[in-house]
Amino acid sequence: MERKELVQLLEKYCNLNGISGFENEIRENLKNDLREYVDEIKVDKFGNIMGIKYGKDREKKLMLAAHMDEVGLIVKLIDKNGFIRFSKIGGIDDRVLLSQPVLILTEKGPVRGIIGSKPPHIQKEAERAKAIPIDKLFIDVGADSKEECEKMGIKIGDPVVFDFKASTLGEHKFCGKALDDRAGCVELIAVAEQLAGEETEHTIYFVGTVQEEVGLRGARVAAYAIYPNVAIAVDVTIAGGVPGLTEYEAPVKMGNGPTIVVEDRGLITHPKVLSWIVKIAEENKIKYQLETGLTGTTDAAAMSLVRAGVPAGVISVPTRYIHSAPCMIDLRDIEETIKLITKCCLEKLPL
Ligand SMILES: [Zn+2]
Repeated sequence: MERKELVQLLEKYCNLNGISGFENEIRENLKNDLREYVDEIKVDKFGNIMGIKYGKDREKKLMLAAHMDEVGLIVKLIDKNGFIRFSKIGGIDDRVLLSQPVLILTEKGPVRGIIGSKPPHIQKEAERAKAIPIDKLFIDVGADSKEECEKMGIKIGDPVVFDFKASTLGEHKFCGKALDDRAGCVELIAVAEQLAGEETEHTIYFVGTVQEEVGLRGARVAAYAIYPNVAIAVDVTIAGGVPGLTEYEAPVKMGNGPTIVVEDRGLITHPKVLSWIVKIAEENKIKYQLETGLTGTTDAAAMSLVRAGVPAGVISVPTRYIHSAPCMIDLRDIEETIKLITKCCLEKLPL
């Protein structure tokens, strides 16, 4: 895939909206974008989408999972003065919320709003030293009353997303909301495109999972149904190399290639899967970084624990400012990741 095409696809997917449980837009787009490269597309009861490319052996299966959902907010109550109070879906730091432009996705369409709070001038000394907690924040949509909000179509349970338009930054960087994990969704499409016309030994499942950010829920049921020989989560990870982050805290860096996880909070990568990915990277001269000690985890953790166990691993792209409105990646890392995953699809499975 050409750089230009890759950027267009990233822009499209980052500008789509889908907090956990509301992945419909992403699913519909994945359906269209995967269709021509796979033999069959299925959507399960949970909302996971699977593009299946049959190999010579239909019983040998490689599952690639990228989550479709993004972190966001949800309308909790509308007060009498027309301010919207919200709760969080997924792990968002309260500090990144203040003053953010957001979109409330209502039945009648998106409504723009701003996250407001008590101005700093009026905050007490102790208040100013701390992040403003979520119960002191609100969304201002320009309404003067609850009735006005309701007329706009806003109701309890409406999803709220960051309002941030994706674009490139500098020569190789790309900035967008929800790169966690739309980067993975785009990689799946690019890999499927690379494999078009190739006959693979094993069958490949390109899976867009739901509800990862709230507990790896979609991947669990999808992996149960597929029961693959090997499962790989295609996700993003925290990039170091920025002021304030020590090398110990975040040793992987943007621009140094995909990250192969050795272990994280929920997974110890199956040794055969780990050495298989590393060998493929080395044989194909793909730059990679090994990562351990992560306090987070990915869909691989859930996939590894279904039925009698699934050997699983993770291939990630180092990303700055994860779970905030603008995330940043290096396009060269995405290109190398696509190359690495494509090669994994063509190589004999280790198990
Ligand atoms: Zn993720």
